Amino acid sequence: MFKKFRTYPRLSACIRGKIWFLILVFTSMTDASGQDGYAAQRKAMVETIAALARETQSETKRGALDKRVLAAMEKVPRHRFVPDDVAPLAYANRPLPIGNGQTISQPFIVALMTDLLDLKPADRVLEIGTGCGYQAAVLGELAREVYTIEIVEPLAKESATRLAALGYRNVSARSGDGYQGWAAHAPFDAIIVTAGAPAVPPALIEQLKPGGKLVIPVGPQWSGQQLLVIEKNADGGTTTRNLLAVRFVPLTREKQ
Ligand code: SAH
Repeated sequence: MFKKFRTYPRLSACIRGKIWFLILVFTSMTDASGQDGYAAQRKAMVETIAALARETQSETKRGALDKRVLAAMEKVPRHRFVPDDVAPLAYANRPLPIGNGQTISQPFIVALMTDLLDLKPADRVLEIGTGCGYQAAVLGELAREVYTIEIVEPLAKESATRLAALGYRNVSARSGDGYQGWAAHAPFDAIIVTAGAPAVPPALIEQLKPGGKLVIPVGPQWSGQQLLVIEKNADGGTTTRNLLAVRFVPLTREKQ
C-alpha cells in the first residue's frame, strides 16, 4: 500500500510532464491562427515576391503577379520541401540545397514562372524537373492535373511521397528523362521546365496544346540562360519571348 501511494504521485507527475511537453511542442508548431509556425514568414515572402515583380516589370514585361499565384505561394508550406537543417531559411527569397547536388528554386522565380503559364483551374500541366516537389505543389494549387518528371530517382521517390503526404492528389510524379515529355498524358495546356536546357526539347512543343505556353530556361550550363516563354499558335507554329537572364541547374539526359 505504502509503495502504491508513493509511486502513484510520481507517475502522475511524469504524465503531467509529458502533457506539458506535448503542449509545448504543439504550440511551437502552430500559431494563433492555428496554422504552422511559418505563416508570418510565408506572408512576408509573398510581399517580397510582389515587390520584386514590380521592380523587374521592365525586364519581365509582367505587371503585378496574378492574385491566385500569390495565394498559392502563401499556402504551400515551403519548409516541408527542404531538409530540416535549412528549414529556418525556407521563406528567404533564395534557392536552397535539397541534397543530391540539386536545389529548390528561388521563390520569386517559382512565382514568376507560374504566373507566365497563365493557368486556369481546369488546366493540365507538365513540369520537367520535380526536385523536391515545391513547384509541383504550387501548380497543384492552381491547375486540375499536374504531371511532373524527375531524372534523379531518389528525389523523384522522395517528392512523390512528400506530395502525397501533403494531400496533393492531383499531382502525378515519376522518375525519368523529361526531355521526351510525358506522351501518355499529352497534350498539355502548359509546360514548365525547371532545369536549364541547351535547346528547346522538340517533344515538349509537340505535347503542348495550341494556345498553350511553355516556360523554359535555355542556354549554356550554369550561366547565361534566358527564360523563354513559347506560345504554340493555332497553326502549330510558335511565338517566342525572351524574358530575362536566369540561372538553373542543367537539364541532364539519360544515357541513350
Ligand atoms: N522544380 C524544382 C526545382 C528543381 S531543380 C523546385 O520546385 O524547386 C531542377 C531539377 O531538374 C533537378 O532536381 C534535376 O535533377 C532535374 N532534372 C535535370 N534534368 C532532368 C531531366 N532531363 N528530366 C527530368 N528532370 C531533370
